[in-house]
Amino acid sequence: METLIASAPDTQDTEASQARHQWDMKEYLPHHEGAPLVKADHDETLVSLAWASGEQTQLPLIWLRDHCACDLCRHPQTFERTFMLMDDAALTVHQMRVEQGNLVVVWQDGHTSRFDAGWLLQRRPSDAPPATPVPASQAWQQGHEPHVTAFADYMAGGQARLGWLEALCRDGFAILDAGPTAGGEIDQVAATIGPIRATNFGGRFEVFSKQAPNNAAYTPIALELHTDLPNWRQPPDIQMLYCLANEAEGGDSIFGDGMAVAEALRERDPQAFSLLAETPVDFRFADETTDLVVREPVIHLDANDKVIEVRFNNWIRDSLRLPLEQMQAWYSAYRQYWSILREPAFRLHLKLEAGQMVAFDNRRVMHGRKSFDPTTGRRHLQGCYVDYDMVESALRVTARQLAGANLTQS
Ligand SMILES: [Zn+2]
Repeated sequence: METLIASAPDTQDTEASQARHQWDMKEYLPHHEGAPLVKADHDETLVSLAWASGEQTQLPLIWLRDHCACDLCRHPQTFERTFMLMDDAALTVHQMRVEQGNLVVVWQDGHTSRFDAGWLLQRRPSDAPPATPVPASQAWQQGHEPHVTAFADYMAGGQARLGWLEALCRDGFAILDAGPTAGGEIDQVAATIGPIRATNFGGRFEVFSKQAPNNAAYTPIALELHTDLPNWRQPPDIQMLYCLANEAEGGDSIFGDGMAVAEALRERDPQAFSLLAETPVDFRFADETTDLVVREPVIHLDANDKVIEVRFNNWIRDSLRLPLEQMQAWYSAYRQYWSILREPAFRLHLKLEAGQMVAFDNRRVMHGRKSFDPTTGRRHLQGCYVDYDMVESALRVTARQLAGANLTQS
């Protein structure tokens, strides 16, 4: 909720904001109601602004012209920028004034730009990262309890959907509960997020014991924890598994946070951690018609050394091609990672019930299962992948709908 509050009106501003009209800036997100501007000065390159609430800032004049929201500078239907920055006369101020508490700039080429004071306030330069409703990923702590939302509540949208999508981004894991089991419900859930990401196994997939399996998932054997398709340049982001029946003996689902395991390894053996993060190895899936290969490290770090991805799938690790003197050390690091992954503290066991769906970040959270006996009952899951971008998009849209509703109510 914190992130929503940032775009909602401050109570102290209510009186001031009544003194000014809000101007449309062609944004979907409701912008800050804020206080009126009381000062707008400029020199050759900078504008200096002051608000009645005491905030001040400076912005380059070219920034102002770049952000003009009129119909000539932003497409009236798509809101995309059509102004192109390249004409010097367009970037020189002819006149500047405060009008209705907002900013008006007339440029040397005769063009007029109008900026809402609250919109400007939200965009004043700062070292802080831009406000976002998408939570940063957080490694699971011991005894992690997954977020659970009822299927019907999620489908209804609003706060329940927002909370579920937030959990999926933060924990890389979230559960829907008490859904129908007619089959195809997973398509309804995917439709709230985005298109299904197809792979060499197709779009939506069915997980049950098959006569002629081309993948261990389609057999009843136990599956060690793994991420799917690390042999792709971009492995599928979010995996969803919807349980339609789980009456067979066994078949418990197991999950583990690859990020938490990586952090544990970093703490216990920094050298082994670095080796897995710095040594690319080959992953490969091949069948009669497919041959998909990438060379990537097991642990991926971002520029700040935060773990952002894990590729772990022992079936489709290709031959290890490393200089002889690196091989033993790599195997040792890999086995250490795996042995932490096998510690009960890092594992989440679930017996999925009919009508339950798990969604997890396949590039971070590993999944597996215990073996099951297909002669003792039906076990049928439907699965698909969706892109993380679309999960974030669904989250932002849900958040801004709620923010818009809050503004309307206040
Ligand atoms: Zn314009």
